Amino acid sequence: MARRKYVVGNWKMNGLHGAIAEAEAIFVAAQAHSAVDVALCPSFTVIGAMAAVARRVKGTVGGQDCHPAASGAFTGSVSAPMLVDAGASVVIVGHSERREGFDESDDDVRAKGEAALAAGLSVILCVGEPLAVRESDGAIEYVLLQIAGSVPETFDPQRLAIAYEPIWAIGTGLVPTLDDVAAMHGAIRGALADRFGAAADEMRILYGGSVNGDNAAELLGAGDVDGALVGGASLTAAKFLPIVEAAATLG
Ligand code: PEP
Repeated sequence: MARRKYVVGNWKMNGLHGAIAEAEAIFVAAQAHSAVDVALCPSFTVIGAMAAVARRVKGTVGGQDCHPAASGAFTGSVSAPMLVDAGASVVIVGHSERREGFDESDDDVRAKGEAALAAGLSVILCVGEPLAVRESDGAIEYVLLQIAGSVPETFDPQRLAIAYEPIWAIGTGLVPTLDDVAAMHGAIRGALADRFGAAADEMRILYGGSVNGDNAAELLGAGDVDGALVGGASLTAAKFLPIVEAAATLG
């Protein structure tokens, strides 16, 4: 089936309220590309303000993480219902910077994904292998274990996207070969089809890791790639919009 292209910006721990004008420029220009879904995921502190702008200019705003519980004694954490309350409609879970830097297991990621779906959010669930695993030819096996362990049982292909992000490609300027990207995306879709049946065909699988305006067209054109999760190049309209335009051309 035809899947709409999806380009998502992950602002990581960047962006004060002064950066919201940049988000507005992105949302406004993205309107010209109606075949592409675009979302920006800033830090918690600016979600509310960015969402207010997004309501005015038709943009989509997301979080970068959520706690598996809806509320409670979890100092410093933000829950999925809180994201909804702030105006987010999507959330990233299982980013490698959370899996590695905050010791998040597949179980943790699955619980976060389930909480997000239950709160009404869409989910972008990240998987990806470290360099040593890629170099030992174990990448597909490694990622399929992450998929098996972290994809929620409440699988909803319209509200769940997978982002394949090889850890060694994030923020490094390195990217896998197009054949490797296509093989991984095909393997992920195959594993989800084995588990969930034909619905897996509706789910979008994004590629992430050093996507920029120069390489977006070829990465987005690789087999089974339905969009991109973009870090560094999502912080400005000048760098992000060429990626949206590449997606629109392939759309
Ligand atoms: C990311 O952090 O999700 C990412 C893909 O980062 P970058 O585009 O900077 O490699």
